[in-house]
Amino acid sequence: MKMLETIDLIVGHEKKAIVEGINLEILPGQLIALLGPNGAGKSTILKSFSALLVPLNGAIHIQGEDLSHIKRKNLSKILAVVLTDRLNAGLLRAFDVVAMGRYPHTGFLGGLSVQDKEIVSECLRIVNAEILAQRYFNELSDGEKQKILLARALAQEPEMIILDEPTTYLDIRHKLEIMSILKRFSREKGITVIFSLHEIDLALKSCDKAILVKDGKIVDYGLPEKVGNNKAVLDLYDINSAGYNAFMGTIEISNNREPSVFVVGGAGKATGIYRTLTRNNIGFCTGILHENDVDCHVAETIGVVTVKEKPFQNIGLKAYREALNLIKESSLMVDAGFPIAETNSLNRKLVLEALQNGQRVCTIRDEKENRQLYGDWSDKMIYCHTAVEILPLCS
Ligand code: ADP
Ligand code: MG
Repeated sequence: MKMLETIDLIVGHEKKAIVEGINLEILPGQLIALLGPNGAGKSTILKSFSALLVPLNGAIHIQGEDLSHIKRKNLSKILAVVLTDRLNAGLLRAFDVVAMGRYPHTGFLGGLSVQDKEIVSECLRIVNAEILAQRYFNELSDGEKQKILLARALAQEPEMIILDEPTTYLDIRHKLEIMSILKRFSREKGITVIFSLHEIDLALKSCDKAILVKDGKIVDYGLPEKVGNNKAVLDLYDINSAGYNAFMGTIEISNNREPSVFVVGGAGKATGIYRTLTRNNIGFCTGILHENDVDCHVAETIGVVTVKEKPFQNIGLKAYREALNLIKESSLMVDAGFPIAETNSLNRKLVLEALQNGQRVCTIRDEKENRQLYGDWSDKMIYCHTAVEILPLCS
Protein backbone atom coordinates (compact mmCIF):
# COMPACT_ATOMS: atom_id res chain seq x y z
CA MET A 1 0.00 0.00 0.00
CA LYS A 2 1.11 3.57 -0.61
CA MET A 3 2.27 5.36 2.50
CA LEU A 4 1.34 8.78 1.20
CA GLU A 5 -0.42 9.93 -1.92
CA THR A 6 -1.48 13.38 -3.02
CA ILE A 7 -4.15 14.05 -5.61
CA ASP A 8 -4.17 17.39 -7.43
CA LEU A 9 -3.09 18.93 -4.18
CA ILE A 10 -2.83 22.70 -3.75
CA VAL A 11 -1.15 23.96 -0.59
CA GLY A 12 -0.86 27.51 0.69
CA HIS A 13 -1.75 30.03 3.35
CA GLU A 14 -5.00 31.95 3.78
CA LYS A 15 -6.32 31.07 0.33
CA LYS A 16 -3.01 32.04 -1.30
CA ALA A 17 -1.75 29.06 -3.28
CA ILE A 18 1.97 28.41 -2.80
CA VAL A 19 2.44 25.07 -4.62
CA GLU A 20 -0.11 23.63 -7.05
CA GLY A 21 -0.68 20.41 -8.96
CA ILE A 22 1.06 18.17 -6.44
CA ASN A 23 0.61 14.52 -7.46
CA LEU A 24 3.00 12.27 -5.55
CA GLU A 25 3.10 8.65 -4.50
CA ILE A 26 5.41 7.67 -1.66
CA LEU A 27 5.96 4.01 -0.75
CA PRO A 28 6.61 2.60 2.74
CA GLY A 29 10.20 2.76 3.95
CA GLN A 30 11.35 5.30 1.39
CA LEU A 31 13.70 8.15 2.26
CA ILE A 32 12.39 11.19 0.40
CA ALA A 33 14.18 14.53 0.06
CA LEU A 34 12.16 17.64 -0.67
CA LEU A 35 14.43 20.16 -2.38
CA GLY A 36 13.99 23.72 -3.44
CA PRO A 37 15.23 27.27 -2.92
CA ASN A 38 14.19 29.34 0.10
CA GLY A 39 10.54 30.31 -0.06
CA ALA A 40 9.64 27.63 -2.62
CA GLY A 41 7.05 26.12 -0.30
CA LYS A 42 8.85 23.14 1.27
CA SER A 43 7.66 23.93 4.79
CA THR A 44 4.15 24.64 3.50
CA ILE A 45 4.04 21.19 1.85
CA LEU A 46 5.41 19.40 4.91
CA LYS A 47 2.97 21.19 7.25
CA SER A 48 0.13 20.16 4.97
CA PHE A 49 1.34 16.51 5.01
CA SER A 50 1.41 16.76 8.82
CA ALA A 51 -2.19 18.05 9.08
CA LEU A 52 -0.92 21.32 10.58
CA LEU A 53 -2.17 23.22 7.54
CA VAL A 54 -5.41 22.58 5.66
CA PRO A 55 -4.92 22.08 1.90
CA LEU A 56 -6.53 24.70 -0.34
CA ASN A 57 -7.67 21.98 -2.73
CA GLY A 58 -7.14 18.33 -3.64
CA ALA A 59 -6.43 15.54 -1.18
CA ILE A 60 -3.71 13.91 0.89
CA HIS A 61 -4.10 10.19 1.54
CA ILE A 62 -2.11 8.44 4.24
CA GLN A 63 -2.21 4.65 3.96
CA GLY A 64 -5.19 5.07 1.67
CA GLU A 65 -7.21 7.19 4.05
CA ASP A 66 -8.01 10.88 3.58
CA LEU A 67 -5.81 12.80 6.02
CA SER A 68 -8.65 15.16 6.93
CA HIS A 69 -10.67 12.16 8.16
CA ILE A 70 -7.94 10.65 10.35
CA LYS A 71 -8.36 11.39 14.08
CA ARG A 72 -5.40 13.19 15.70
CA LYS A 73 -4.78 10.37 18.14
CA ASN A 74 -4.65 7.81 15.34
CA LEU A 75 -2.50 10.07 13.20
CA SER A 76 0.08 10.42 15.96
CA LYS A 77 0.52 6.65 15.95
CA ILE A 78 1.31 6.74 12.25
CA LEU A 79 3.14 10.04 11.88
CA ALA A 80 5.85 11.86 13.85
CA VAL A 81 6.77 15.42 12.92
CA VAL A 82 10.06 17.23 13.59
CA LEU A 83 9.81 20.93 12.76
CA THR A 84 12.49 23.60 12.93
CA ASP A 85 10.57 25.69 15.47
CA ARG A 86 12.68 25.74 18.59
CA LEU A 87 11.27 23.56 21.34
CA ASN A 88 11.37 25.15 24.78
CA ALA A 89 11.69 22.15 27.03
CA GLY A 90 11.87 24.07 30.30
CA LEU A 91 13.80 21.99 32.79
CA LEU A 92 13.22 18.66 31.12
CA ARG A 93 16.07 16.26 30.78
CA ALA A 94 16.82 14.72 27.39
CA PHE A 95 15.31 11.42 28.54
CA ASP A 96 12.00 13.16 29.39
CA VAL A 97 11.89 14.90 26.02
CA VAL A 98 12.27 11.56 24.26
CA ALA A 99 9.63 10.09 26.62
CA MET A 100 7.17 12.73 25.33
CA GLY A 101 7.18 10.66 22.14
CA ARG A 102 5.35 7.94 24.07
CA TYR A 103 2.24 10.10 24.73
CA PRO A 104 0.22 8.74 21.81
CA HIS A 105 0.61 5.34 23.43
CA THR A 106 0.33 6.23 27.11
CA GLY A 107 -1.84 9.38 27.06
CA PHE A 108 -0.66 12.59 28.76
CA LEU A 109 -1.55 11.37 32.22
CA GLY A 110 -0.53 7.79 31.71
CA GLY A 111 2.80 7.08 33.35
CA LEU A 112 5.63 5.35 31.56
CA SER A 113 5.63 1.58 31.84
CA VAL A 114 8.86 -0.35 32.13
CA GLN A 115 8.47 -1.17 28.47
CA ASP A 116 8.00 2.53 27.56
CA LYS A 117 11.21 3.36 29.41
CA GLU A 118 13.03 0.62 27.54
CA ILE A 119 11.79 2.01 24.24
CA VAL A 120 13.01 5.50 25.23
CA SER A 121 16.46 4.11 26.11
CA GLU A 122 16.58 2.14 22.89
CA CYS A 123 15.72 5.24 20.84
CA LEU A 124 18.46 7.21 22.61
CA ARG A 125 20.86 4.41 21.76
CA ILE A 126 19.84 4.34 18.10
CA VAL A 127 20.66 8.05 17.68
CA ASN A 128 23.96 7.67 19.61
CA ALA A 129 22.73 9.87 22.46
CA GLU A 130 22.63 7.55 25.48
CA ILE A 131 25.15 9.71 27.31
CA LEU A 132 22.90 12.75 26.94
CA ALA A 133 19.94 11.11 28.70
CA GLN A 134 20.30 12.92 32.03
CA ARG A 135 21.45 16.29 30.61
CA TYR A 136 19.00 19.21 30.53
CA PHE A 137 17.62 19.53 27.00
CA ASN A 138 18.00 23.32 26.94
CA GLU A 139 21.70 23.00 27.74
CA LEU A 140 22.47 20.76 24.77
CA SER A 141 24.15 21.93 21.55
CA ASP A 142 22.03 22.27 18.40
CA GLY A 143 23.37 18.97 17.05
CA GLU A 144 22.65 17.16 20.30
CA LYS A 145 19.15 18.66 20.51
CA GLN A 146 18.41 17.50 16.98
CA LYS A 147 19.43 13.95 17.86
CA ILE A 148 17.12 14.02 20.90
CA LEU A 149 14.25 15.24 18.71
CA LEU A 150 14.92 12.39 16.28
CA ALA A 151 14.85 9.96 19.22
CA ARG A 152 11.55 11.49 20.37
CA ALA A 153 10.05 11.02 16.91
CA LEU A 154 11.29 7.43 16.88
CA ALA A 155 9.88 6.76 20.37
CA GLN A 156 6.47 7.48 18.94
CA GLU A 157 6.98 4.25 16.92
CA PRO A 158 5.57 5.92 13.81
CA GLU A 159 5.40 4.52 10.32
CA MET A 160 6.34 7.88 8.82
CA ILE A 161 8.51 10.77 10.02
CA ILE A 162 8.36 14.24 8.48
CA LEU A 163 11.26 16.60 9.15
CA ASP A 164 11.64 20.21 8.10
CA GLU A 165 15.30 21.15 7.51
CA PRO A 166 16.64 18.69 10.11
CA THR A 167 20.25 19.73 9.57
CA THR A 168 19.95 23.51 9.67
CA TYR A 169 22.40 25.16 12.10
CA LEU A 170 24.44 21.96 12.36
CA ASP A 171 28.11 21.57 11.53
CA ILE A 172 29.06 19.14 8.76
CA ARG A 173 29.82 16.26 11.16
CA HIS A 174 26.36 16.50 12.70
CA LYS A 175 24.69 16.98 9.31
CA LEU A 176 26.23 13.70 8.15
CA GLU A 177 25.31 11.98 11.40
CA ILE A 178 21.67 13.12 11.22
CA MET A 179 21.43 11.92 7.60
CA SER A 180 22.89 8.53 8.50
CA ILE A 181 20.41 8.20 11.39
CA LEU A 182 17.52 8.98 9.02
CA LYS A 183 18.86 6.39 6.60
CA ARG A 184 18.84 3.81 9.40
CA PHE A 185 15.26 4.75 10.32
CA SER A 186 14.21 3.92 6.78
CA ARG A 187 16.50 0.90 6.16
CA GLU A 188 16.32 -0.86 9.50
CA LYS A 189 12.94 0.23 10.84
CA GLY A 190 11.13 0.50 7.51
CA ILE A 191 9.94 3.99 8.41
CA THR A 192 8.98 6.35 5.59
CA VAL A 193 11.06 9.50 6.05
CA ILE A 194 10.28 12.76 4.26
CA PHE A 195 12.69 15.62 4.89
CA SER A 196 13.33 19.02 3.38
CA LEU A 197 16.84 20.26 2.89
CA HIS A 198 18.36 23.13 0.98
CA GLU A 199 21.77 21.44 0.74
CA ILE A 200 21.19 19.63 -2.53
CA ASP A 201 24.42 17.66 -2.66
CA LEU A 202 23.94 16.17 0.80
CA ALA A 203 20.26 15.42 0.12
CA LEU A 204 20.89 13.76 -3.25
CA LYS A 205 23.58 11.53 -1.77
CA SER A 206 21.26 10.34 0.99
CA CYS A 207 17.76 9.95 -0.40
CA ASP A 208 15.93 7.20 -2.32
CA LYS A 209 13.91 9.75 -4.24
CA ALA A 210 13.98 13.50 -4.52
CA ILE A 211 11.19 15.99 -5.07
CA LEU A 212 12.12 19.35 -6.61
CA VAL A 213 9.86 22.29 -5.83
CA LYS A 214 10.17 25.59 -7.64
CA ASP A 215 7.98 28.38 -9.00
CA GLY A 216 4.84 27.05 -7.36
CA LYS A 217 5.04 23.52 -8.73
CA ILE A 218 6.78 20.17 -8.51
CA VAL A 219 9.49 20.45 -11.15
CA ASP A 220 10.69 16.85 -10.88
CA TYR A 221 10.24 13.71 -8.76
CA GLY A 222 12.29 10.56 -9.00
CA LEU A 223 15.65 8.89 -8.40
CA PRO A 224 18.37 11.27 -7.21
CA GLU A 225 20.45 10.28 -10.26
CA LYS A 226 17.69 11.59 -12.50
CA VAL A 227 16.68 14.60 -10.45
CA GLY A 228 20.28 15.59 -9.81
CA ASN A 229 21.07 15.92 -13.48
CA ASN A 230 22.98 19.08 -14.13
CA LYS A 231 20.31 21.28 -15.66
CA ALA A 232 17.52 20.53 -13.21
CA VAL A 233 19.65 21.40 -10.22
CA LEU A 234 21.17 24.49 -11.79
CA ASP A 235 17.71 25.65 -12.84
CA LEU A 236 16.40 24.98 -9.37
CA TYR A 237 18.82 27.34 -7.75
CA ASP A 238 19.24 29.82 -10.60
CA ILE A 239 22.95 29.25 -10.22
CA ASN A 240 25.14 31.10 -12.67
CA SER A 241 28.07 31.98 -10.46
CA ALA A 242 28.79 28.32 -9.79
CA GLY A 243 28.79 24.97 -11.53
CA TYR A 244 27.33 21.72 -10.27
CA ASN A 245 29.00 18.42 -11.13
CA ALA A 246 26.30 15.75 -11.04
CA PHE A 247 28.90 12.98 -11.41
CA MET A 248 30.77 13.97 -8.27
CA GLY A 249 27.88 15.74 -6.54
CA THR A 250 29.97 18.84 -5.89
CA ILE A 251 29.58 22.55 -6.45
CA GLU A 252 32.45 24.66 -7.77
CA ILE A 253 32.63 28.44 -7.99
CA SER A 254 32.83 29.48 -11.66
CA ASN A 255 35.91 31.16 -13.08
CA ASN A 256 35.39 33.15 -16.28
CA ARG A 257 38.41 35.43 -15.96
CA GLU A 258 40.76 35.87 -18.92
CA PRO A 259 43.37 33.09 -18.46
CA SER A 260 46.91 34.21 -17.58
CA VAL A 261 48.17 30.95 -16.07
CA PHE A 262 48.46 27.43 -17.50
CA VAL A 263 48.25 24.67 -14.88
CA VAL A 264 49.67 21.27 -15.79
CA GLY A 265 47.67 18.86 -13.66
CA GLY A 266 46.66 15.25 -13.25
CA ALA A 267 45.66 12.70 -10.61
CA GLY A 268 43.84 15.37 -8.63
CA LYS A 269 47.05 17.29 -7.89
CA ALA A 270 45.72 20.49 -9.48
CA THR A 271 42.27 20.63 -7.86
CA GLY A 272 43.44 22.64 -4.83
CA ILE A 273 45.34 25.02 -7.12
CA TYR A 274 42.27 25.58 -9.32
CA ARG A 275 40.20 26.50 -6.28
CA THR A 276 42.84 28.83 -4.85
CA LEU A 277 43.27 30.65 -8.18
CA THR A 278 39.48 30.93 -8.58
CA ARG A 279 39.01 32.25 -5.06
CA ASN A 280 41.57 34.93 -5.85
CA ASN A 281 40.03 35.91 -9.19
CA ILE A 282 42.91 34.65 -11.27
CA GLY A 283 41.99 33.26 -14.68
CA PHE A 284 43.68 30.08 -15.88
CA CYS A 285 43.49 27.24 -18.35
CA THR A 286 44.69 23.71 -17.78
CA GLY A 287 45.77 20.40 -19.30
CA ILE A 288 46.53 17.89 -20.42
CA LEU A 289 44.03 15.90 -18.41
CA HIS A 290 42.54 12.49 -18.94
CA GLU A 291 38.78 12.79 -19.08
CA ASN A 292 38.38 10.48 -16.07
CA ASP A 293 40.75 12.51 -13.88
CA VAL A 294 39.35 14.36 -10.85
CA ASP A 295 41.22 17.46 -12.04
CA CYS A 296 39.34 17.26 -15.35
CA HIS A 297 35.94 17.04 -13.64
CA VAL A 298 36.74 19.97 -11.38
CA ALA A 299 38.24 22.15 -14.15
CA GLU A 300 35.23 21.63 -16.38
CA THR A 301 32.82 22.37 -13.54
CA ILE A 302 34.71 25.58 -12.78
CA GLY A 303 34.28 26.27 -16.48
CA VAL A 304 37.85 26.92 -17.62
CA VAL A 305 39.44 25.92 -20.94
CA THR A 306 40.72 22.36 -20.47
CA VAL A 307 42.91 20.37 -22.84
CA LYS A 308 41.83 16.74 -22.59
CA GLU A 309 42.76 13.24 -23.66
CA LYS A 310 40.68 10.04 -23.68
CA PRO A 311 40.85 7.90 -20.52
CA PHE A 312 43.85 5.55 -20.26
CA GLN A 313 45.25 6.63 -23.66
CA ASN A 314 48.70 8.12 -24.12
CA ILE A 315 48.43 11.87 -24.55
CA GLY A 316 48.43 12.48 -28.29
CA LEU A 317 50.00 15.17 -30.46
CA LYS A 318 46.72 16.95 -31.08
CA ALA A 319 46.24 17.69 -27.39
CA TYR A 320 49.92 18.49 -27.05
CA ARG A 321 49.81 21.17 -29.77
CA GLU A 322 46.62 22.60 -28.31
CA ALA A 323 48.31 22.92 -24.92
CA LEU A 324 51.44 24.51 -26.44
CA ASN A 325 49.32 27.23 -28.02
CA LEU A 326 47.64 28.03 -24.74
CA ILE A 327 50.96 28.03 -22.89
CA LYS A 328 52.38 30.57 -25.36
CA GLU A 329 49.57 32.97 -24.38
CA SER A 330 50.17 32.46 -20.65
CA SER A 331 52.48 34.49 -18.42
CA LEU A 332 53.02 31.64 -15.95
CA MET A 333 53.00 27.85 -15.99
CA VAL A 334 52.27 25.85 -12.87
CA ASP A 335 53.53 22.28 -12.53
CA ALA A 336 51.01 20.87 -10.05
CA GLY A 337 53.23 17.94 -9.11
CA PHE A 338 51.36 15.23 -11.01
CA PRO A 339 52.76 11.67 -10.97
CA ILE A 340 54.23 10.69 -14.35
CA ALA A 341 53.56 7.48 -16.26
CA GLU A 342 53.60 6.52 -19.92
CA THR A 343 50.08 7.85 -20.52
CA ASN A 344 50.96 11.41 -19.47
CA SER A 345 54.67 11.58 -20.26
CA LEU A 346 53.98 14.42 -22.71
CA ASN A 347 52.97 16.59 -19.73
CA ARG A 348 56.55 16.33 -18.50
CA LYS A 349 57.67 17.40 -21.96
CA LEU A 350 55.30 20.41 -21.81
CA VAL A 351 56.94 21.62 -18.62
CA LEU A 352 60.44 21.00 -19.97
CA GLU A 353 59.69 22.85 -23.19
CA ALA A 354 58.33 25.86 -21.30
CA LEU A 355 61.54 25.97 -19.22
CA GLN A 356 63.67 25.71 -22.36
CA ASN A 357 61.66 28.52 -24.00
CA GLY A 358 62.43 30.79 -21.06
CA GLN A 359 58.86 30.91 -19.76
CA ARG A 360 58.18 31.38 -16.08
CA VAL A 361 57.39 27.99 -14.54
CA CYS A 362 56.61 27.37 -10.90
CA THR A 363 56.25 24.01 -9.22
CA ILE A 364 54.89 22.35 -6.13
CA ARG A 365 57.55 19.62 -6.30
CA ASP A 366 60.69 19.64 -4.17
CA GLU A 367 64.14 20.30 -5.64
CA LYS A 368 65.25 16.69 -5.70
CA GLU A 369 62.23 15.52 -7.64
CA ASN A 370 62.54 18.47 -10.01
CA ARG A 371 66.15 17.67 -10.80
CA GLN A 372 65.25 14.05 -11.54
CA LEU A 373 62.50 15.14 -13.94
CA TYR A 374 63.94 18.17 -15.65
CA GLY A 375 67.75 17.88 -15.11
CA ASP A 376 69.67 21.18 -15.18
CA TRP A 377 66.62 23.02 -16.47
CA SER A 378 65.16 22.64 -12.97
CA ASP A 379 67.49 25.50 -11.90
CA LYS A 380 65.09 27.82 -13.68
CA MET A 381 62.09 26.64 -11.63
CA ILE A 382 60.32 28.90 -9.16
CA TYR A 383 59.60 26.87 -6.05
CA CYS A 384 56.24 27.12 -4.32
CA HIS A 385 55.30 24.76 -1.55
CA THR A 386 51.59 25.53 -1.47
CA ALA A 387 48.97 26.84 -3.86
CA VAL A 388 48.86 30.15 -1.96
CA GLU A 389 52.53 30.81 -2.77
CA ILE A 390 51.65 30.81 -6.47
CA LEU A 391 49.41 33.87 -6.09
CA PRO A 392 52.10 36.63 -5.96
CA LEU A 393 53.57 35.24 -9.20
CA CYS A 394 50.29 35.74 -11.03
CA SER A 395 50.10 39.55 -10.94
P1 ADP B 1 10.38 27.06 2.15
O1 ADP B 1 10.16 26.19 3.32
O2 ADP B 1 10.58 26.32 0.87
O3 ADP B 1 11.49 28.03 2.36
P2 ADP B 1 7.80 28.16 2.87
O4 ADP B 1 6.86 27.02 2.70
O5 ADP B 1 8.24 28.47 4.25
O6 ADP B 1 9.06 27.94 1.90
O7 ADP B 1 7.16 29.46 2.26
C1 ADP B 1 6.55 29.47 0.99
C2 ADP B 1 5.82 30.78 0.81
O8 ADP B 1 4.72 30.84 1.72
C3 ADP B 1 6.66 32.01 1.07
O9 ADP B 1 6.35 32.94 0.08
C4 ADP B 1 6.23 32.47 2.42
O10 ADP B 1 6.33 33.86 2.52
C5 ADP B 1 4.77 32.03 2.47
N1 ADP B 1 4.34 31.74 3.87
C6 ADP B 1 4.99 30.93 4.72
N2 ADP B 1 4.32 30.85 5.90
C7 ADP B 1 3.23 31.66 5.77
C8 ADP B 1 2.13 31.99 6.62
N3 ADP B 1 2.03 31.49 7.86
N4 ADP B 1 1.20 32.83 6.13
C9 ADP B 1 1.27 33.34 4.89
N5 ADP B 1 2.28 33.04 4.03
C10 ADP B 1 3.25 32.22 4.45
MG1 MG C 1 11.15 26.01 5.09
